[in-house]
Amino acid sequence: SDHQLEYPLSPDHMDWDKYYPTKTANQDVTVADIGCGFGGLLVALAPALPEKLILGMEIRVQVTNYVEDRIIALRQQHPGDYNNIAVLRGNAMKFLPNFFKQGQLEKIFFCFPDPHFKQRKHKARIVTTTLASEYAYVVRPGGVVYTITDVEDLHIWMRDHLQAHPLFERCSEEFEREDECAKIMYVNTEEGKKVERNKGSKFVACFRRLENPVV
Ligand code: SAM
Repeated sequence: SDHQLEYPLSPDHMDWDKYYPTKTANQDVTVADIGCGFGGLLVALAPALPEKLILGMEIRVQVTNYVEDRIIALRQQHPGDYNNIAVLRGNAMKFLPNFFKQGQLEKIFFCFPDPHFKQRKHKARIVTTTLASEYAYVVRPGGVVYTITDVEDLHIWMRDHLQAHPLFERCSEEFEREDECAKIMYVNTEEGKKVERNKGSKFVACFRRLENPVV
């Protein structure tokens, strides 16, 4: 549980160099996959966004370890590649601002998050009104929140909560269909592949982080 979770006191306390072997001094993590599971999206994004540092955050220890080993193996098999992806164990619902500075992220992904079907568990969902404000804090104006799920009720929930937030605006259908990362997200997560095999539906919703209002 959380008392065993390690998290930095602030983003400035974070030593990213040990996660990204080729990171330069002026490079920050700008892409995050929240609840990355077994890392399929990270692995697919690595060659698509070669200039970006991409982080998977995952709460389960064994799953995090698996992704870590997967990345190490890929780096060995493809020297020079996959240095821009890493994973760390963390509870994104609690400590995101400990890891990321205000406006640090360009893209944040929520792929097939746990649905928490029961009404009384809805507050445990990864998108809530409060958490939407936290995501607005870590994502820069112009940045994008990507969501995908096979659970229509959860899709509607995430869509409505993000749409209701004054700092997010739903992207166009064209963006959700044609954006390079949205396309990668549609096919490259382990959960998405399972849904595909079972001939299930996939619901996508993307949101643009708006400019901060002038006060
Ligand atoms: N995104 C992956 C995919 O599409 O294949 C995994 C989807 S899986 C259904 C949801 C993942 O989110 C699980 O691996 C779970 O451990 C992780 N998770 C749940 N709550 C989390 C939290 N608060 N912070 C980080 N990860 C979390």
